[in-house]
Amino acid sequence: MPSNITHFLTSVNEAARLSATLCRKVQNELLSSMDKSDSSPVTIADYGCQALIHRAIMLNFPEHGLISEEGSEHLRTNASDDETSYIVRLVSESLGEEVTIEQICDWIDHRGDLDNEFIWSIDPIDGTKGFLRKAQYAIAIGLLQDCKPVGGILVCPSLPYDLDDADSAVGVLMIGYGAGTARKFAIDAEHSMSVSSNTVTDSRQMRVLGSVESAHGDPALVSGMMQASNIEGGFVRYDSQAKYAVIAMGGAEMYIRPRSKPDYRENIWDHVAGVAVCEAAGAVVTDIDGKALDFSHGEKLTENRGVLATANATAHKLAIDGIKATETAQ
Ligand code: AMP
Ligand code: MG
Repeated sequence: MPSNITHFLTSVNEAARLSATLCRKVQNELLSSMDKSDSSPVTIADYGCQALIHRAIMLNFPEHGLISEEGSEHLRTNASDDETSYIVRLVSESLGEEVTIEQICDWIDHRGDLDNEFIWSIDPIDGTKGFLRKAQYAIAIGLLQDCKPVGGILVCPSLPYDLDDADSAVGVLMIGYGAGTARKFAIDAEHSMSVSSNTVTDSRQMRVLGSVESAHGDPALVSGMMQASNIEGGFVRYDSQAKYAVIAMGGAEMYIRPRSKPDYRENIWDHVAGVAVCEAAGAVVTDIDGKALDFSHGEKLTENRGVLATANATAHKLAIDGIKATETAQ
């Protein structure tokens, strides 16, 4: 793996950590949301995190492109005076210097050069609904090189560092790049360790992950697949790309995300970071037909039907076979 990828990720790591702190502050101080035109929720924290992350990329790699979830227009037109002062205070505190709302909006809207070989794809708060519920959410920073995921940082401020330990502290930052280099860091402590997806091959032990929002998938297809392939380890719901983090940490074997409706196309910022981290941990990620994910069509995965992340090749085959069997029987 070229060392430039590590350098790129390391340069954005501080902004990722500052974003986690900002999110927690908002959760404790002023947790409210505004609705966007598609009626999905967005918070001051979404904008604050995207400003911090974009700023770091813009200052370090002005030539890189960015495809990210938020734009400043909605913030400019919908934020109250109190919310505007609050985001200015939050970002200023994070950076240790006074910034203006204009600077914040410029960072949020920075898109760099979208013809560059390197494109970042950022979801500043993936799982805003989980964030509002004080459940799982993720700050997702993915990096594409020539439209292929080559690196990712996933910060999950509410995910236990050790999934098997009920007393584990929460707050994990995961970095992955290339094949075989994935690491988790505790966000409130010094420890870290390398992670890998697991090697369970017995279908009866395999655990499946899906969205908390049933409307973000196709529950009938997932349960049909589990029955057809004798997957008996259970179905667990998490909001956000925390699901990818759990696969990468060895905490489950399948994350399946079929299309919720025939015309739904996945946003790339909901996947680039998670795919990079998972692949670095040894997982196999494709769409639900087993086709490679195609990140070369701008904001959407237009050419793929859903997404499937599996801990290993056996789990992948079981999932694909189970999906085929279920769809053939429908
Ligand atoms: P999750 O928490 O895994 O359900 O993922 C949250 C993401 O789902 C949001 O960031 C949205 O981009 C995305 N989303 C919104 N509506 C849908 C839908 N109908 N089908 C699939 N994903 C969706
Ligand atoms: Mg999202």
